[in-house]
Amino acid sequence: MKPGIIVHKFGGTSLANAEKYKSVAKIVTERNSYAVVVVSAMSKVTDSLIELVELAAAQNESYLENWSALKNRHLDTVRELLPPSSQESIIQILNLDFENIKEILRGVWLLRSFSSQIIELVSGYGEVWSAQLLNNYLISQKVDSNWLDARRVLVVEPTDSAVSVIWPSSQEKTDLWFKDQSKKITVVTGFVASTTEGIATTLKRNGSDFSASIFGALLNAQEIIIWTDVDGVLSADPRLVPEAVVLAELSYHEAAELAYFGAKVVHPSTMAPAIDKKIPIWIKNTFSPEKLGTKIHSKSQSTHPVKGFSTIIDIALVSVEGTGMVGVPGFAYRLFGTLKEIGVSVIMISQASSEHSICFAIPLSQSAKVRQALANAFFAEIHKGIIEKIEISENCSILAAVGDGMVHKRGVAGIFFTSLAKAGVSIRAIAQGSSERNISVVVKREDATRALRAAHAGFFLSAHAISIGIIGVGGVGSTLISQLKEASEFFKNSSLDIRVRGLANSKRMLLHPDRISLETWEKDLQEKGELLDMVRFVNHLRADHIPHSALIDCTSDQDLANQYITWMTAGFHIITPNKKAGSGPMADFRKLKIASTELQKHFLCETTVGAGLPVINVLRDLVQTGDKIIAIEGILSGTLSFLFNAVSSGRSFSEALIEAKDKGYTEPDPRDDLSGVDFARKLVILARESGWPLELADIHLESLVPESMAKLGISEFMSKVSELDTLLEKPLQEAKLKCEVLKYVGHIDSEGKATVSLRSYPSLHPFAQISATDNIVAFKTKRYFSQPLYVRGPGAGREVTAAGIFADLLRLCSYLGATL
Ligand code: ADP
Ligand code: ASP
Ligand code: MG
Repeated sequence: MKPGIIVHKFGGTSLANAEKYKSVAKIVTERNSYAVVVVSAMSKVTDSLIELVELAAAQNESYLENWSALKNRHLDTVRELLPPSSQESIIQILNLDFENIKEILRGVWLLRSFSSQIIELVSGYGEVWSAQLLNNYLISQKVDSNWLDARRVLVVEPTDSAVSVIWPSSQEKTDLWFKDQSKKITVVTGFVASTTEGIATTLKRNGSDFSASIFGALLNAQEIIIWTDVDGVLSADPRLVPEAVVLAELSYHEAAELAYFGAKVVHPSTMAPAIDKKIPIWIKNTFSPEKLGTKIHSKSQSTHPVKGFSTIIDIALVSVEGTGMVGVPGFAYRLFGTLKEIGVSVIMISQASSEHSICFAIPLSQSAKVRQALANAFFAEIHKGIIEKIEISENCSILAAVGDGMVHKRGVAGIFFTSLAKAGVSIRAIAQGSSERNISVVVKREDATRALRAAHAGFFLSAHAISIGIIGVGGVGSTLISQLKEASEFFKNSSLDIRVRGLANSKRMLLHPDRISLETWEKDLQEKGELLDMVRFVNHLRADHIPHSALIDCTSDQDLANQYITWMTAGFHIITPNKKAGSGPMADFRKLKIASTELQKHFLCETTVGAGLPVINVLRDLVQTGDKIIAIEGILSGTLSFLFNAVSSGRSFSEALIEAKDKGYTEPDPRDDLSGVDFARKLVILARESGWPLELADIHLESLVPESMAKLGISEFMSKVSELDTLLEKPLQEAKLKCEVLKYVGHIDSEGKATVSLRSYPSLHPFAQISATDNIVAFKTKRYFSQPLYVRGPGAGREVTAAGIFADLLRLCSYLGATL
């Protein structure tokens, strides 16, 4: 035997067509070592072969069509893979094998039934063809190669539930066959073997992994590499958990446990022969061979307590209850003995601390059989009331967490159960493996994927991952997205994981299971977006596999504001520049505040007043630290600020208004600014933050739009704006006489009485000194009494508003525990 031999195994997924055989050949020839290459059948071929037999037995004529299709698939692959000069011999073999299969199928058709021997023989052909295809291709490429039909050397004894290898005779035959071998590469059929009588059999479904491990042991291989279509063993099935990560290392036991609980990538029986000889097993990706993959060996070095999660979807939970069972010796022995007799393997047993009940999980397909067998075996006990009930719940699944020694690591079980509880998954039964390497729970079948994702997130995602939905992607919304994009590099190095998973405008929405590309979102929304469905949008964003969720409402929509409590109840935090909720009826606002406290969901609205300026947070800090607000005075409209600043520098109000409209500083209808309603809403928000229950209607509001101009069309209104100058003449004159400047100001006094009106200030007063679209607020408080606390700066514009929302988002993340 050659020293340092490597056993490779390629699964069906790596052998779907001629192209893939070429990639496989490249992988095995690039490595300069003696190699045994165990191959599966081409993908889905084993399924097709078994189906042929079943169709023939059912006298379904389509078996002939399927037979032809399967034959043609192989012949086509030969023609594509091999040069014409190398095709003939293998075509002859294929023709002969397919004729033999056809004869067997004819027999099955006539008999209308088939023995297990027939299935064993027919289902193994796929591997025999696959090995020859690869070997012939290698030879055509001048590679020093040979092939071995494993049925010549591998002897096994099929038992009810498994297949056991007859090691002495397998070893002897293998040694004999390889004794005279000098070829660099030997292609070996996976899956197939012979019985002690020399009859063809198989290692049962997915058995090629087992073949690889057996040949690894027989040949004392240096390592076994299982090549498949994923980058290694992942922390969960990637089809169910998009965030699953590749595990660098696993112990044999961990791998076996994961496999036992359903992780299809390795199969439980694969491990045993390799473990005995301590041969490392690698799981690697045929389609990205440069990636490291997962190493499975005696002791994994990783300190991560939980390695992975897996689920068995279809199980039934049996619970046997009765006071009479207490202290009866041998009861459990009889119970499990009964199950063994009918060939049922118990997947897990949940140990109740009392002996009042025994609970265990079995494959769903065996539940009827178990029900009957238990009813028969315990007829007397049931009759006498010693057993009160035998209950079988059928729609159940098992979720298992696997990792060496995890059971005794403090906090592991805590995180596991808390994650499930947070996702609203109720646990039907719990079992802790005696191996200390797994905790498994039975959950309702419909909860299985949610439970898997939630548990996975609890261990593998940053605890600060947050699922974000942005509603309204116009000026402010789209600027926020660009700011998030620019900052993403910075966040890569932090524990923060902000995932924009949904975007919506008033008509369309874009959803992504993982994260929307912040580069191409506009195009994606147009091309891949769907019609807006708010219910789906919200359901999608509340993802159980991501610890936190927030909705960012960048609209000024009343209907959306009405939804906030429902969203909070569904688990969302809310961030918004929309003033409608904060300034709507006080009773509604109170409900929102109560919901926020009770549900522990944050409502962050810094940008409703002063755009990005820290107005609300400053006010909250004052109130929460026990200061008393005596008065608030402020210029809170960027538009009106601009207009009056222009007037103080000598321009006419109307001229400034026309310029402001042209520059987009006003609402489409400038009267929305001039009426002061929007300004008044901000005052309401500030009053409520200060503890005054102000309603919008309570504000004494001095509108700058005269009655006569309120109902005109926009362009007619704009043609008459010079009339506004006349209206302002008197107050401007009065201010001038006092050497003061006129401003449009909101004011709340110590009793919570509020006005929005024209006021004048001495030219050195901070309110007289503002420029452009600045906002300014003065908080007069018990602490800031002789000199108020001022906040001043640009109070409008996309960039600053979006940045304010972004700051609210980061504030939320830090409330949720992230360190920035
Ligand atoms: P092959 O044909 O190579 O034998 P299989 O389909 O038998 O491939 O196994 C590979 C598949 O196992 C992957 O494509 C993946 O979808 C699935 N799988 C399930 N659980 C896991 C896991 N924990 N890690 C990796 N793959 C998994
Ligand atoms: N071809 C066999 C099956 O599909 C064995 C294997 O691929 O592992 O079950
Ligand atoms: Mg497989």
